Amino acid sequence: MALTGIQIFKLLPKTNCKECGVPTCLAFAMNLASGKAELDSCPYVSDEAREQLSEASAPPIRPIMIGKGVRAKTVGGETVQYRHEKTFFNPPLLAALVGSDISASDLEAKLKIWNAFQFERVGLNLRPELVAVKDVNNDKDAFASAAKIIAETSEFNVILMTKDPEVMKAGVAACGFKRPLMFAATAANVDAFAEIAKENDLPLAVTGDSLEAVVALTDKLTGMGVKDLVIDPGSREIKQSLHDLIGARRSALKDSNRLVGFPTIAFPCEMADNLDMETLIAGMQIAKYAGIIVLSDFTGESLFPLLLERLNIYTDPQRPMTVVEGIYEIGNPDENSPVMVTTNFALTYFIVSGEIEGSRVPAWLLIKDSEGLSVMTAWAAGKFAGDDVGIFVKKSGIMDKVSHRELIIPGYAAAIAGDVEEELPEWKIIVGPRDAAHIPGFLKAR
Ligand code: SF4
Repeated sequence: MALTGIQIFKLLPKTNCKECGVPTCLAFAMNLASGKAELDSCPYVSDEAREQLSEASAPPIRPIMIGKGVRAKTVGGETVQYRHEKTFFNPPLLAALVGSDISASDLEAKLKIWNAFQFERVGLNLRPELVAVKDVNNDKDAFASAAKIIAETSEFNVILMTKDPEVMKAGVAACGFKRPLMFAATAANVDAFAEIAKENDLPLAVTGDSLEAVVALTDKLTGMGVKDLVIDPGSREIKQSLHDLIGARRSALKDSNRLVGFPTIAFPCEMADNLDMETLIAGMQIAKYAGIIVLSDFTGESLFPLLLERLNIYTDPQRPMTVVEGIYEIGNPDENSPVMVTTNFALTYFIVSGEIEGSRVPAWLLIKDSEGLSVMTAWAAGKFAGDDVGIFVKKSGIMDKVSHRELIIPGYAAAIAGDVEEELPEWKIIVGPRDAAHIPGFLKAR
């Protein structure tokens, strides 16, 4: 169990030197106990105390790395029940299911389609991460063959789904190099699965009829030294699934129950008979609090809203989303194309770039760092001042890309036109539309 603030305090140097950023060791101990501070912030903790404190400072839900390569991700590691308390850290991974009896050509065709599901949004690449292979007929060769095709011919990482230790061994031999998730240890196979997980250093999911049954297994497995666990409470009904996912998170966070302090896996693919309902259930599980979500298929109309929901929920509510400062090419601009400048608030970028794209007038869009503020707010806060914008334009390198010297500034920042002109005497400063929706008409009329 995690240590209390007072227990942590007893292990600290008690010099109140303030180097950790709070006035006293006691305050630091309280922050550490509630997950609001990192142990590394105190440089004076002895090695002995550090060892004892590691449990207290570890996230209440163990972070587990799944997979290898560009789609490898960590799940778990969460420290709060509600996003507004701090933030959620590791978005749930999305998986699609295939049976082990699928033909090689069908699997390759599916992987090709699924791999193409990659969406650019606010400078990020949104895509699913996993394919789950389910053993359907106890054929270990077919199981291994499907796992091998996924691991070797695609970027996707793998969930190996079987309860048979021999089939699991074959799957691990075929794709162990990609750090697959083994699904799943049960009361019947737990010893054999623990051995395979330990030998191959792989994450292991546990499943049972209830959260209580799963806890008995996590207790046994952690005692055996298998700690990279994922839990499946076994619920396949909407209300019970929600109840279990919330209960596990609450128990790990509020009761410091390490036996449920693991990421969860959910199976909307086994909870609905059509993709619409399955997508709705997956949406609920993204919000509350699945670590891995297994769908029956990836289709654009199901995947895209789930990826967007995931993006929205797993952004830091205390920090606006931003895009990187720089020059963005929209629609293959050339030396005569217009140059526009705006702020690095992701939504601003997304809307402005979308309107330029919609206009079909190729343009250069300069994004200036404004600490994630929109145009009016940035201007009011002095983060989008005329001289700063002028200096940024000079340094951006846009002068090497265009032969003209005309800069379009946002209509809401018309007041900075004079200062920009002073900083850029060779440039003509043009005030663009206030509303991004008027950008296409504005560009076409030029
Ligand atoms: Fe105490 Fe360490 Fe913080 Fe100094 S840095 S006040 S010793 S907890």
